[in-house]
Amino acid sequence: MFNIILFGPPGSGKGTQSEKLISKYGLKHLSTGDLLRHEISRQTSLGKEAQNFMDKGHLVPDEVVIGMISSALDENPSAKGFLFDGFPRTSAQAEALDNLLQLKNAPISAMLAMDVTEDELIKRLLKRGETSGRSDDNNEEVIRARIIEYHTKTAIVADYYKKFNKAVMINGEGTIDDIFERLCTEIDKRI
Ligand code: ADP
Repeated sequence: MFNIILFGPPGSGKGTQSEKLISKYGLKHLSTGDLLRHEISRQTSLGKEAQNFMDKGHLVPDEVVIGMISSALDENPSAKGFLFDGFPRTSAQAEALDNLLQLKNAPISAMLAMDVTEDELIKRLLKRGETSGRSDDNNEEVIRARIIEYHTKTAIVADYYKKFNKAVMINGEGTIDDIFERLCTEIDKRI
């Protein structure tokens, strides 16, 4: 099994690059943002709870997203590997993920961290908001709240993987194809 984490602030291109990576490497894509939006569109109780946090640009409580990832792992017993996108976003989530993967004897191979300047992030998110239909993308205040959550709770997750020599920084600016190539180069070294 080959498991990777695509890491980076909101708007760093994780979703775009994930699509390309899963098709090249045959991985199962697990995006907590997509899973949460799916729950919201079905108006489940989990979705309704999550929406209150997401609308404000805050992180959804750890137990909610950890439970969701745990079920998604169980639902895909024959996956060749997983690409985690938008997860883990806190230290507690990182530890929980390690425990879940230990049960499968399939550790994280690498955490690829996309590096993008803050001005570029805000520009990209506002642009995405014009077409994505995501209410958290067309309000600059909510975008700033998401970036603050990233700095206060999520950025330290990179240190967790650095301790295990699994963190790799990727320049997240340039064309989509250039960034994809940088990611593939790092993945191919570890596969
Ligand atoms: P982006 O990274 O562009 O903000 P996502 O689709 O990954 O977009 O996430 C959208 C929102 O969903 C986040 O702002 C947060 O409220 C919630 N969310 C997604 N993943 C997690 C997670 N692992 N832990 C807590 N909240 C999450």
